[in-house]
Amino acid sequence: MTQTDPDIAPASLGATHEVFNQTPPLEDYNAFDCDFALKEGVIRAGGEWALAGLSTYGARIGSAEVTRWGFDAYEFRPKFSSHDRTGRRIDLVEYHTSYHALLGMALRAGLHSSPWTTPRRGAHAARAARIYLQAQVDAGHGCPLTMTFASVPALQATPSIAEAWLPKVLANDYDPRNVPYFEKTALTIGMGMTEKQGGSDVRANTTVAQPLGSDGAGEAYALIGHKWFTSAPMCDAFLVLAQTNAGLGCFLVPRWRPDGSKNPLEVQRLKNKMGNVSNASSEIELRGAFGWMLGEPGRGVPTIIEMVAMTRYDCMVGSSASQRQGIAQAVHHARHRRVFGKPLIEQPLMRNVLADLQLEVEGSVALSMRMAEALDAPGDEQQRLLLRIGLPVGKYWICKRAPNHAYECMECLGGNGVIEDFITARIYRDAPINAIWEGSGNVQALDALRAIGRTPEVIDAWLGEIGQARGASAALDHAVAHLKNQLADAGDVEQQGRALVDALALTMQASLLVRAGNAAVSDAFIASRIAAQGERTYGTLPRGVDVGAILARNRQSVRFD
Ligand SMILES: Cc1cc2nc3c(=O)[nH]c(=O)nc-3n(C[C@H](O)[C@H](O)[C@H](O)COP(=O)(O)OP(=O)(O)OC[C@H]3O[C@@H](n4cnc5c(N)ncnc54)[C@H](O)[C@@H]3O)c2cc1C
Repeated sequence: MTQTDPDIAPASLGATHEVFNQTPPLEDYNAFDCDFALKEGVIRAGGEWALAGLSTYGARIGSAEVTRWGFDAYEFRPKFSSHDRTGRRIDLVEYHTSYHALLGMALRAGLHSSPWTTPRRGAHAARAARIYLQAQVDAGHGCPLTMTFASVPALQATPSIAEAWLPKVLANDYDPRNVPYFEKTALTIGMGMTEKQGGSDVRANTTVAQPLGSDGAGEAYALIGHKWFTSAPMCDAFLVLAQTNAGLGCFLVPRWRPDGSKNPLEVQRLKNKMGNVSNASSEIELRGAFGWMLGEPGRGVPTIIEMVAMTRYDCMVGSSASQRQGIAQAVHHARHRRVFGKPLIEQPLMRNVLADLQLEVEGSVALSMRMAEALDAPGDEQQRLLLRIGLPVGKYWICKRAPNHAYECMECLGGNGVIEDFITARIYRDAPINAIWEGSGNVQALDALRAIGRTPEVIDAWLGEIGQARGASAALDHAVAHLKNQLADAGDVEQQGRALVDALALTMQASLLVRAGNAAVSDAFIASRIAAQGERTYGTLPRGVDVGAILARNRQSVRFD
């Protein structure tokens, strides 16, 4: 037996080491006050009146309690039971209390309703800012929230349905009870379009709807078929596409029939997803399920597109939020972690990476908030044209940029970033989803081309908006000239769709940032994303960029600094 050297012996037996040089959790901070890009974007979009309320909401979102809800909603996955213990069909999905707490918090704050019930300049921006804050805690519960918000324009298509359903759809309340819609105080809405044989191409749907009496808008039908993806299956009703004699129709299918019996909308199983796991996504079969026709016969796609446009918009906002939470974590960590004798935040190469990641958020928020501003002016033709092209362009670009951004943020935390106890791992798992659902990347690019082909005025609106920054940057002016050449080139238009949409998105983001007035941000954005040629990774900002000014846009570590 060897004798322990008293000079190196631990103070007490069993104490192997001291834990130090660790980053405290990012919690009990104000997620709104610390986010300069968001605050300025809300003001530019006319939402200055909402700042105080957003600050209150940001404090709640950043609290340790709400942060914990996000982890728990993900950890304790939704559980599906097809039958009760005596063999009766129940199709019940149960969620952890944290999921209910998050969804209830959002619905009670009107994140599904406020721009519809209280329209005014800045209303969509104020609501988008709250969604962006909410999504930073957990993306999954945002699915029923978004679908309920997005269903409103589609429900309005049929006055009898709107009159019966909108008061409870727009109620700022959450009623998670598994009871018929007419017994509830508030309702949530889901969506069933995708089938096994085709999701993007919904014309391939084989589900059929037969009238139970008269046919037409607002009338009752029986639906037979299936849906391969139906998220949030505990919603009170779903907008569902089905074939009729007149072509594809859109139907509102409640989980309970008007007589209080269970509607045969049977959940086959829940998807075993790699991300977005706090949100249940199901496969369902419709066995003569009762539904009312929404919109006119044969006009199912134009009716549900009203909803889909809004869900695509929320995907942009949600992916901007994921980028923001990623960089918040990365900067927070860099401020607390010391390497090679000084904090990471003082290491020049890490500063380059972090500033570059922040620039991505700046561009995403600027474009999302510009779309919010356009949504607040439904009667303005210019804004309508901007939205028509801006929603597919923004959904394509911002969502597609999210996974790599999430990965780089994760890497800033080193090995810990990969571990599920850290939110960076969850952000990474969730990141691809927004790009894939609600119309995948190519479908968005093709939709932007369709908009240009059918309504060429959208390009005048887009270029006019970009042109408001003309003369501020030779590189941006050059990129816009190149974009015009791309638009004029009629060859291989579809094959070149992504290249065109990339250029539409980047030039718009650069223009919006120039006009936002922070030269450090817009100069660096243009130098790295417009003037730079070829492939680049994050952390390759060129010499001369004011990295310090860009990093100063991240102040979320207030409690610990
Ligand atoms: C987590 C999750 C939840 C979902 N929840 C719902 C839900 O609640 N309700 C619902 O209805 N759906 C839901 N979906 C389905 C989703 O919207 C579809 O998966 C998506 O629209 C793509 O359809 P698809 O899977 O059939 O793929 P496909 O349509 O087969 O597309 C495959 C690929 O081909 C590309 N593509 C398609 N057409 C073209 C073309 N003309 N040219 C070039 N490329 C093309 C697409 O961009 C895609 O990359 C969900 C999906 C996920 C992942």
